Amino acid sequence: MKKAGIIGHPVSHSLSPLLHEYWIKKYGLKAEYLYLDTEEENLGNRIGELRTSGFVGANITVPYKEKVMKHLDEISDEAKKIGAVNTILVKEGRLFGINTDTEGFLENIRETIPGFSFERRRAVILGAGGAARAVIYSLLKEGAGEIWLVNRTKEKAEMLAQEFGNNIHVETWGRLNKTLGGADILINTTSLGMKGKGKLEIDISPLPKKSIVYDIVYNPLETELLKQAKFQGNKVVDGLGMLLYQAVPAFHLWFGIKPKVTGELRKLIASRV
Ligand code: NAP
Repeated sequence: MKKAGIIGHPVSHSLSPLLHEYWIKKYGLKAEYLYLDTEEENLGNRIGELRTSGFVGANITVPYKEKVMKHLDEISDEAKKIGAVNTILVKEGRLFGINTDTEGFLENIRETIPGFSFERRRAVILGAGGAARAVIYSLLKEGAGEIWLVNRTKEKAEMLAQEFGNNIHVETWGRLNKTLGGADILINTTSLGMKGKGKLEIDISPLPKKSIVYDIVYNPLETELLKQAKFQGNKVVDGLGMLLYQAVPAFHLWFGIKPKVTGELRKLIASRV
């Protein structure tokens, strides 16, 4: 029996077990996907167990996406640049760390808006946390023309701009509307708008009608930001697809099958968020 699982603390809220168990059943695999709730002092031991206890790999979630890196044998360039590992592959006793959020983020928009390309586009990103790093990496990889970072703590956005390069600019939260007029896409990577977190109170009326609004928050599925965007006629992309598509490369690496993201799966996961 092959094993995989999710390592974090806590992990009981995670949707990854439901998602991977769905595919395990669908493809008739002899495998199981476990909740591996791990206290910080046991992280090293837990990662060590992956080498020796029949695991093909694991997902890593909050708060260990950075902390796990020192326990691994190899880390992909992409995960190094993003500064976080969300997936481990075990191969011949060695542990490889990768980050699949880029693929999740990009596949989701490709599926929702077929033919969309970031090439030479102007993007505004709200937030400068871990998710923003994966989104910036994705946009640069896809040839975005200009990226504006707007974050409550401006210094964090400035640090990211310095780290990721020239065509990244920073604007203060209070002057967000100055960046919206020429934007092709607005992406929310803050936790605002998520159930139990604060409200994302912004006015997106300066955004051109042809612009896209992408909210990576998926709980609720239709955030206030997406409601506002739909109301004023913008195309929208929600965050659930990113969650589903980031799991595809992990499953593929572990079990050798590229699983399908279907309407049925989307419905199942949406019913649990
Ligand atoms: P993080 O590293 O903690 O960053 C949080 C970001 O939100 C920071 O930019 C922070 O600004 C901002 N923020 C938090 N509270 C705020 C407030 N009251 N006012 C203004 N800004 C505020 O978190 P993360 O890992 O980047 O995750 C962010 C969100 O993305 C979460 O909701 C997460 O669930 C979601 N996410 C979704 C997916 C998916 O698959 N769809 C994947 C990854 C993450 P400061 O810098 O000023 O603190």
